[in-house]
Amino acid sequence: MKILVVNAGSSSIKYQVVDMTDESLLAKGLVDRVGIPGTTLEHEPVGKDEVVIKKDLPDHTEGMKLVLEVLTNEEYGVVKSMDEIGAVGHRVVHGGEDFSESVIIDDNVVKAIRDCFDIAPLHNPPNLMGIEACQNLMPNVNHVAVFDTAFHQTMEPENYMYALPYEAYEKFKVRRYGFHGTSHKYVADRAASMLGKPYEDCKVITLHLGNGASMAAIDGGNVVDTSMGFTPLQGLVMGTRSGDIDPAIVFFLMEKLGLDFSEANNYFNKKSGMLGVSGVSNDLRDILEAASSGNERAQLALDIYYNRVKSYIGSYMAKLNGCDCLVFTAGVGENGYDIRENICKDLEFLGIKMDTEKNKVRGKEVDVATEDSKVRILVIPTNEELVIARDTYNLSK
Ligand code: AMP
Repeated sequence: MKILVVNAGSSSIKYQVVDMTDESLLAKGLVDRVGIPGTTLEHEPVGKDEVVIKKDLPDHTEGMKLVLEVLTNEEYGVVKSMDEIGAVGHRVVHGGEDFSESVIIDDNVVKAIRDCFDIAPLHNPPNLMGIEACQNLMPNVNHVAVFDTAFHQTMEPENYMYALPYEAYEKFKVRRYGFHGTSHKYVADRAASMLGKPYEDCKVITLHLGNGASMAAIDGGNVVDTSMGFTPLQGLVMGTRSGDIDPAIVFFLMEKLGLDFSEANNYFNKKSGMLGVSGVSNDLRDILEAASSGNERAQLALDIYYNRVKSYIGSYMAKLNGCDCLVFTAGVGENGYDIRENICKDLEFLGIKMDTEKNKVRGKEVDVATEDSKVRILVIPTNEELVIARDTYNLSK
C-alpha cells in the first residue's frame, strides 16, 4: 500500500508518498504561500529531477488539487492514478486529552480537532483545512490523524498539572500537553534498537533540537515528562521562543511596552529566544558564526541555550532515576556537533562522556559516547513522516 502523508500549515502544505512494502520514500514536496500571491510547488520525486511550479492558489483545496496532479503526472509523477494511494495520514498538532494514539478521522475526530482550536489557534485550523481538502478530493480512502500531543499522554498528573487554581484545568483544560511527540516516539524507538535492548526496558532522554525545541524523559516507551507545556512556548530556549521564564515578566512587559495580548504573544513566541538575545538571527548556524567572530550577545545566547538544556538533562535524570541514553535529533541536534559537545561538557558525574572526535558527524545514526560512558549519546535523524505513514498504514491495512 502507498500512503500519502500531509502536513498542512496556515500557508503551506508539505507532503510525502511512502511505499509501505519497504517503507521507501517515492516523493516529497512543499506547496508554499498557499492563499498568498506567489504560490510555489516544489516536487521532489525520488530518482527524478525536482520540479518547481509557480501558480497562485487561493486555498488548501486548490493546493491539494495541484499536489494530486503532480503525483499522477506522466513525466514526474510517482503513481499512475490516485487509486494507488491506500490512505492519507495527516499531521495534527493538538489532540487535547482525547487522543493518546493515532485515529481514523470521522465526524467525532473532526469535532475534537475543532474543539482544540482555542488552545492551538495557529496549528489546528490549518491542519483541519488540509484534512477537509483531502477528504473532498479523496473521499474513498481512510484519512488518519496523527497528533503531536498523543505520545505525551502517558504523563502522570504530577508532571502535567500546573499549580494553578484547579478550575483552570477543569474549565479550560490548562495543563502540560507537550509537542513533537511523533519525533520523540520515533527516535526513542530507534534508540532502543541501537542499544540492542527491548524498548520496554529503556530509559531515554530525547532532545528534539530544531527551530522549535523540546525534550522528553521516556521510561519503557512511556513519556514521564516533556519540556513543552500547555503551548510550545514552555521549556528550552528556541529560535524565536523564550522557553521558561518567570510568568510575571509577561504582565510587567505588557505594561511597560504597552502590549496587547496578541502583541505579547508575538513578543514571547516570535521575537525572543536565540533571535531576541543575540539580535543576530534565529538560526543557530548564524549565531555560532557570529559568536566565533567575537559577538558577545551571540555567545551569551548560546550559553543560555546550553545551560537550559543541561538543566533539563539533570531534571530528567532525576525523574527517571538515571538513563540509558541521550538522543539528539532535529536540525540542531542532528547537525550541530559543536552544540552537542557544549551541552554534554562537564556532565561526567552523571555518567555522560562524549567522544568529541566521534561526535563530529552530521545527520547520521551514530553513538558518540566514549567506550566507558555509562550513558550512551546517540545522534538519530528524526523521521516524523515515517511514523505518520506507519500509523496510517496500520489503521488501514
Ligand atoms: P528544524 O526545525 O528541525 O528544521 O531545524 C532547523 C534548525 O536547525 C535551524 O535553526 C538551523 O540553524 C539548525 N541547523 C541546521 N544545521 C545546523 C548546523 N550545522 N549547526 C547548527 N544548527 C544547525
